Amino acid sequence: MKALVFRHSLAREAATAIGGLVSPRAYVSRFAPTGLEDVAEPPLPAPDWVGVQTTLSGVCGSDVKQILLNGARDNPLTALVSFPHVLGHEAVGRRADTGDRVVLNPWLSCIPRGIDPPCQACQSGRYPWCRNFRAGHLPPSIHLGNCAAAAGAHAERFSAHASQLFAIPGGIPDEAAVLADPVSVSLRSIVLAPPAAGQIALVYGSGTLAFAAIALLRHLYPGTEVWAATRPGARAALATRLGAHAALPSAPDELVAQVAGRIGATPLVPWSNRDWLQDGPAVVYDTIGSTQTVETSLRLLATGGTLVISGVEPPKRFEWTPLYFKELRVIGSNGFGIEEVHGVAKHAMEHYFDFIADGLDLTPVITHRFPLARWREAVLAAKDARRTGAVKVLLDPAR
Ligand SMILES: [Zn+2]
Ligand SMILES: [Zn+2]
Repeated sequence: MKALVFRHSLAREAATAIGGLVSPRAYVSRFAPTGLEDVAEPPLPAPDWVGVQTTLSGVCGSDVKQILLNGARDNPLTALVSFPHVLGHEAVGRRADTGDRVVLNPWLSCIPRGIDPPCQACQSGRYPWCRNFRAGHLPPSIHLGNCAAAAGAHAERFSAHASQLFAIPGGIPDEAAVLADPVSVSLRSIVLAPPAAGQIALVYGSGTLAFAAIALLRHLYPGTEVWAATRPGARAALATRLGAHAALPSAPDELVAQVAGRIGATPLVPWSNRDWLQDGPAVVYDTIGSTQTVETSLRLLATGGTLVISGVEPPKRFEWTPLYFKELRVIGSNGFGIEEVHGVAKHAMEHYFDFIADGLDLTPVITHRFPLARWREAVLAAKDARRTGAVKVLLDPAR
């Protein structure tokens, strides 16, 4: 079958990174660590796994960062990845055994690994806290898409433990279902710090996680004022279309000034001239997680406020004095499991299906769709999002 494979090799990665200085096409050239290959289908890891024919797979920001070799060599999560692997963890497909349309929960926690009884975290549905990502009948891996023994979803077929596959209710199109993974990440970030009635929530970012957070906040907390810090133009229009009350600029100083103006707060002006506020949004959902967005969020958060970082960027130094001065809370999160929403506990993806039935529609975030064979264009479209306007890019392995 055709599959998008990442082969870890320091020599290839070094050569590609040097080529990448000249042209980004180096990252998708045939000398790069990532390539479309004809691979033998790996055997099912256990009898309770099932094969799935891929219908659509979503290109995640983390896929693009990996293909562009944008991850840090000292990333602690390299302890929980095995190579080579087929990329892709956002997927919709058809079960080979029943023909059902399913969406993939990619987490390779205790149960898919055949570990019985599951660890405490898995027993409570907190799959990203699983203690067994190196144990059981799979090599080290966190989810499908970084596991050497089970193919990820950027392939004509993948396999998963039966418990990882949620049947898609009739009436929900594949295009809506394939967004279940990023929507679940944003749902978890909101569950970790839900806005209180009458508070302002700010969503930082211009990607799928940001638009999902905006739409979820509007869907779940109609009394909350939701502001988007996003790029002007089509992104700002999309934020507004999905329910943001205000689309503010994402540039740090402009953003702080506009938040101050809207709140009626007088900015504090330090020697650095990077103004900051003591009153601002009570919660910021930062879907980028760069030093710039984290630092800016700390500047504009209300005293006692909370920053939830769901974005994944390599760490760098930043100015964090407001963190202690304003007694801010910072929570990191980029996973999901059983989540409690308005008193109902179920898997985040099952919540998402309910929200769709209640009218939530995130499909406007889908901007591009390519056959798997044209994966290079898909990656470059996502990479050059400023130019191409890409938000969610899909691959279509069936075409
Ligand atoms: Zn993802
Ligand atoms: Zn576990």
